[in-house]
Amino acid sequence: MSKRQNQQIEAVGQLLHTPKNIVITMHKNPDGDAIGSAIGLAKFLQKQHHHIMIISPNKYPAYLAWMIDAQSKIFVYEEDNQPELKKRIEQADIIFCLDFSNLSRIEPMSLAVQKSQATKIIIDHHHDPQDFAQICICDPNASSTTLLIYKMIIAFEQASLIDKQIATCLYTGILTDTGSFHNSGTHPDTHLVVAKLLEKGVDISEINKNMRKNGTIENLHFLAHAITHRLHIIPNSRTAYFAIEKNDYEKFNLKPTDTQLLTNYPLSIEGIDCAVLLTEYDHEIRLSFRSVGDLAVNKIAKYFNGGGHKNAAGGTYKEETAEGMKQASLQKATKLLIEKITEARC
Ligand code: 5GP
Ligand code: MN
Repeated sequence: MSKRQNQQIEAVGQLLHTPKNIVITMHKNPDGDAIGSAIGLAKFLQKQHHHIMIISPNKYPAYLAWMIDAQSKIFVYEEDNQPELKKRIEQADIIFCLDFSNLSRIEPMSLAVQKSQATKIIIDHHHDPQDFAQICICDPNASSTTLLIYKMIIAFEQASLIDKQIATCLYTGILTDTGSFHNSGTHPDTHLVVAKLLEKGVDISEINKNMRKNGTIENLHFLAHAITHRLHIIPNSRTAYFAIEKNDYEKFNLKPTDTQLLTNYPLSIEGIDCAVLLTEYDHEIRLSFRSVGDLAVNKIAKYFNGGGHKNAAGGTYKEETAEGMKQASLQKATKLLIEKITEARC
């Protein structure tokens, strides 16, 4: 931890001396690190008698629901409960912004968070944090946000408050963001922290089972369909991409996050070190990038108003008008992708 980070952590500690009204939020389409951070931190703060509400900008994936219990319910910022959740954001003393550092990543609740008088605290490991919070515990070298939360708790000298449940959430964040300890964001201190979490009773095989049990037969049929009909290789660029069409969702009864299971598959092809997943939604095309080695996919994601890490990034392709969106946007996003990947490989 740098001197500045220690100061920021100290400032958080000061704020938490007395029980507070706290909102915890995380990025849209939350992953294991986002949900693990939110629930792990919520449980830690509840032990200190803070009042916590966790709000997700949109639905969280079913494969992460096992982490949630009665004390760590996640409210989803949907139309029918927006007025109530907006009020909670407005009235909060503190808002923790976890695993993101750019307000665009919490649409449609960015404005509510921005306008709130609450003290905003970012804990994140993405590059170039936006300047919207009073406190920022940000380290792009950290393998996950949960690892930063662990370090904050240690700096508070409150390791004894980490129980099996909290340790399980923190471990899950590290597990998912390091691609099960496969990607280059896995450092010696990642394993040192994991060792400490295992000492708290984390059950690795139970987590593994929990993460896999939410699949359906349609998911596997979809996987077969996507690999057979939606997977393409960009010539001379060591890149393969999936282009998932909107009507694939209906055909295979998919939830929006079900396509995530595809992301890494192309990396198993010999000679491919970059995989991209394009998914067509009603008003936008989402892109997920993964690479192994030198190709910095966060630089390519920038052309799609996104970002992320060197080996895992995401972005969005949008047309100027709704009318424009109806016209071959998936093809246009693909064309832009091919152009940018080809440039990057030159
Ligand atoms: P995923 O492909 O799993 O959605 O995202 C991979 C990584 O890129 C995650 O660390 C995520 O936080 C980051 N990421 C995904 N989408 C965006 C985006 O639109 N903007 C930025 N800045 N980062 C993103
Ligand atoms: Mn993360």
